[in-house]
Amino acid sequence: MTKCMAAPLSRQQITNIALVVRTLDGTENELYFDIVRFMEIKLPRFIPDFNLIIEEKSKLGECHGLTYPDRNEIHIREDVYERALMGNGRDRLTMAHELFHLLQHEKKNISYARIESEEDIEAFRDPEWQADAFGGELLIPAHLIHNMTAGEIVEKCKVSYKAASYQLGKHRNQYVG
Ligand SMILES: [Zn+2]
Repeated sequence: MTKCMAAPLSRQQITNIALVVRTLDGTENELYFDIVRFMEIKLPRFIPDFNLIIEEKSKLGECHGLTYPDRNEIHIREDVYERALMGNGRDRLTMAHELFHLLQHEKKNISYARIESEEDIEAFRDPEWQADAFGGELLIPAHLIHNMTAGEIVEKCKVSYKAASYQLGKHRNQYVG
């Protein structure tokens, strides 16, 4: 089986990339990150030929989002975009996930590996794991959540309960004491 492999990145490196994006946006001390506004207004200032394309449901099918890093294009299914606009956590995470593909997964960072079917590539080389990890780090900043409950994170960061509790589990140990 051929699998897509990205240049390896640790969670700490991904946390740092998310913090750089937050800092460029001027929202490094805010719990809420408006991913839609970032893509529509801020990102084109850094990447002038960036295009956010909202696609009809019939065109993207099962795909919630699709990114072409070498063309600087992110395609988001229209229902996903509309729900993200209304603050739906899962859809906001999809957009943050696609942002990472755009920033990190251009051709020069991706290779194709033939591996035994029962094996899997390590998470830190898996572009999908990396993009999921980044989405969580971007929408739920690790340095701001240490005294919060999952319920508070859901409300303040506008993310799903699943994402909030996962992120809390990832970072709780670093802040004990
Ligand atoms: Zn993806």
